Amino acid sequence: MAAFSSLTDRLSNAFKHLKSKGKLSEADIDGTIREIRRALLDADVSLEVVRSFTGRVRERALGEEVSQALNPAQQVVKIVNEELTAILGAGVDRPLNFAKNPPTIIMLAGLQGAGKTTLAGKLGYWLKDAGHTPLLVAADLQRPNAVTQLQVVGERAGVPVYAPEKGVQSDGGEAVAAPGQTTGDPVKVARDSIEFAKRKLYDVVIIDTAGRLGVDEELMKQARDIRDAVHPNEILFVIDAMIGQDAVKTAKAFDEGVDFTGVVLSKLDGDARGGAALSVASVTGKPILFASTGEGLKDFEVFHPDRMASRILD
Ligand code: GDP
Repeated sequence: MAAFSSLTDRLSNAFKHLKSKGKLSEADIDGTIREIRRALLDADVSLEVVRSFTGRVRERALGEEVSQALNPAQQVVKIVNEELTAILGAGVDRPLNFAKNPPTIIMLAGLQGAGKTTLAGKLGYWLKDAGHTPLLVAADLQRPNAVTQLQVVGERAGVPVYAPEKGVQSDGGEAVAAPGQTTGDPVKVARDSIEFAKRKLYDVVIIDTAGRLGVDEELMKQARDIRDAVHPNEILFVIDAMIGQDAVKTAKAFDEGVDFTGVVLSKLDGDARGGAALSVASVTGKPILFASTGEGLKDFEVFHPDRMASRILD
């Protein structure tokens, strides 16, 4: 995975030194842990996560499971894999939470440029493929282009878009937006879209919300107001894996601001410093549900902590 390629190389180097040894001394283990720590920090994994991660690995690596292992170096790699899996969400796959009574409401939150609108299209496409009838909702009324952008995404995905102004259905058919609806109030758009979905039997509503360049209180309040108006089954926090050390601060702010239910890592196809994204689940305690790996509709996958850890250590 591009975002972790440098981290993967560095970790593999760290283990290479270890594998040339038979029995491991405390100094061998500490040397390896120093290399792991540097590799993680250089990949932008946050300091607090690196500290607790290397602490746990060290403790286990000095314990019996390694000293009594037939292949101690292999055992250390296994420990690192397990601890990395733990950071990424305890190895538990957390599927999307669907409502008992449709529509299921999914709200997207995150900074501007994080990849929310793109994700709305991918999610819609994925859900449609699985037999659902999704509806995208343009509740990002901050950027003049945001509604149009969602409409383009919806059209590409073949998923209708509910918009505050005359919406365009993906198949070029009847407009989806309520006639005469011109409000610029994103809370009203979100609320009305749910009524619309119920009437038209859309079973999943994906609400795209406004993002700003930085975390700001007005933005948070708007997201909270939308949340409180529609009671989403999922609030997905979308985070750009390339955001660097700001990831933790941003994730914490959104966690406090909207109490999101899950994380989507986006731009995992980007250049090789995606480690910040690795900190988010562990810092917020919220599960990662999906990964976005490109601009195309299909560049999207369900997130499995154990598989991701294995890919990083590959
Ligand atoms: P929003 O402001 O949060 O809605 O972000 P957008 O969905 O508009 O995405 C911002 C930019 O990032 C756009 O140019 C997208 O094409 C791009 N983008 C979104 N997701 C990904 C991804 O997973 N990989 C890559 N390479 N680009 C992405």
